[in-house]
Amino acid sequence: MKCPKCNNTKEFQSPKISYAIPAWLTVGLPSVHRAYYRKKYVQCSECMHIFPRKRLPQAPVAIFSMWIIGIISTLVILSLLFSNLPKFVNFIPDFLLIQVIEGFIKNNIKIVSISIALLFVSVFPICIVSYFISNYIFRSKVRKKL
Ligand SMILES: [Zn+2]
Repeated sequence: MKCPKCNNTKEFQSPKISYAIPAWLTVGLPSVHRAYYRKKYVQCSECMHIFPRKRLPQAPVAIFSMWIIGIISTLVILSLLFSNLPKFVNFIPDFLLIQVIEGFIKNNIKIVSISIALLFVSVFPICIVSYFISNYIFRSKVRKKL
């Protein structure tokens, strides 16, 4: 950590709550706001300048998990939208791959439904758990180096 004003790298402190009083009055939850403020900001002990605390980096596994959740969520939202707009689907050309998949789904509705359900109950929890665990391990290693 380095103060952007005086380049001090040695001593820092949590900012005094008096700086947060205007926001504190508008938020109305003093203790929550104080905790948030102290977590987000740090004060230089040399020049008393308050600046945002540098965010710890995310673990690569956590970034990957968030991408998987993002992609699956986007596809689910799109398929829900398209299922409510049946006319729009007619504009999508009939590719061979889509025809093969459609045929499989028509012949195996139960298996496909179970597979989709299993996908939701397995991939989402695995991604969320790996996000938090990998970030916790990665960030505790980063903190030790600082
Ligand atoms: Zn400073």
